[in-house]
Amino acid sequence: MIPQADPGAGYRAQQAEIDAAVQRALASGWYILGKEGEAFEREFAAWLGTTRAVGCANGTDALALILRGMGIGEGCTVATVSHTAVATVAAIEMAGATPLLLDIDPDTYTMDPDELTAVLEDPPPGLPPIRAAIAVHLYGQSCDLGPMLEACSRNGVALIEDCAQAHGATLHGRKLGTLGAAAAFSLYPTKNLGALGDGGVLATDDFELADRIAAIRQYGWKERYISSMVGVNSRLDEVQAAILRVKLTALDAGNTKRREIAARYDAALANGPVAPPVRRPDAEHVFHQYVLRSPERAALQARLKEAGVGTGIHYPVPVHLQSAYQGRTALGPAGCAETARAALEVFSLPMYPELTEEQIERICEALRGLGG
Ligand SMILES: *Cc1c(COP(=O)(O)O)cnc(C)c1O
Repeated sequence: MIPQADPGAGYRAQQAEIDAAVQRALASGWYILGKEGEAFEREFAAWLGTTRAVGCANGTDALALILRGMGIGEGCTVATVSHTAVATVAAIEMAGATPLLLDIDPDTYTMDPDELTAVLEDPPPGLPPIRAAIAVHLYGQSCDLGPMLEACSRNGVALIEDCAQAHGATLHGRKLGTLGAAAAFSLYPTKNLGALGDGGVLATDDFELADRIAAIRQYGWKERYISSMVGVNSRLDEVQAAILRVKLTALDAGNTKRREIAARYDAALANGPVAPPVRRPDAEHVFHQYVLRSPERAALQARLKEAGVGTGIHYPVPVHLQSAYQGRTALGPAGCAETARAALEVFSLPMYPELTEEQIERICEALRGLGG
């Protein structure tokens, strides 16, 4: 079976360099917040094009740290989508704020900008004031960010980018993560830039915000043992930072390979029963996931499985329909109807740069077979 994701293949592709980096970090005798972490932050910020990057424990924390650093918590509402990793919504609650979940555009699976504009201009009754919106660039493709940025700026609301699936993706030629007030990246092993363990990084051009967050991630310390603000513990360790410095050098080539694989899948699906994913004309997709949709999902997944092709579902249950979130989250006027429909129909093909030519051809053969 060709697995839908294969983080081990990413390790093996750079094994000698990664092993050397791990050895270097281990031999240094310094394991948390040291030279490797600082170098990774510098190199990541330079690659992205922001003035600052701050490493932390994971992508969920990166979002929560941004909110805390902006002073957004209790008594604030944060708008985002329900069609996302639960992490996006968990981060809002970790910061103490109330999530407001909006619907998606059914073609691109990202936030409906008109609904965001509507709730910012006419907030749902009974909610604390909306102070931020988290734009989730899902599956590796940009949200319709232009009108979202405009609506946020008109209403004095911070736009935060959730780039956990969009390392290297662009909109109008500009990298995602440089367009909002701050951006959070997960470095979970299966992400386009993945550690071999947990990791996260956030980026911003706001120096003061970055300094506040750097203190908050370690007990509110600006000076060792002196907490000048309330903080948490969310640090990126030196071994993961050393690994990530190696992985970062392969990120752009990995994204190019993902796009090539996507084009092969597109061609194999031509004239078949399932349409390839919709691309925004003004954006460059990095295919964290290659997602198809069909009311016949279960049957199609079964046929692909028979052909030795693993698939996944991102995500089978929207956040507002998860049992833990029943009654905890407010919905926008659209009631997340498109979100609920998408969750019943989407499925993801294998997608990672280490897929071999033989594997890609086997997957394409299986896709061509779906028509018959
Ligand atoms: C992976 C992911 C996160 C959370 O990242 P972790 O590193 O697992 O905490 C947040 N948002 C989205 C959209 C994700 O895909």
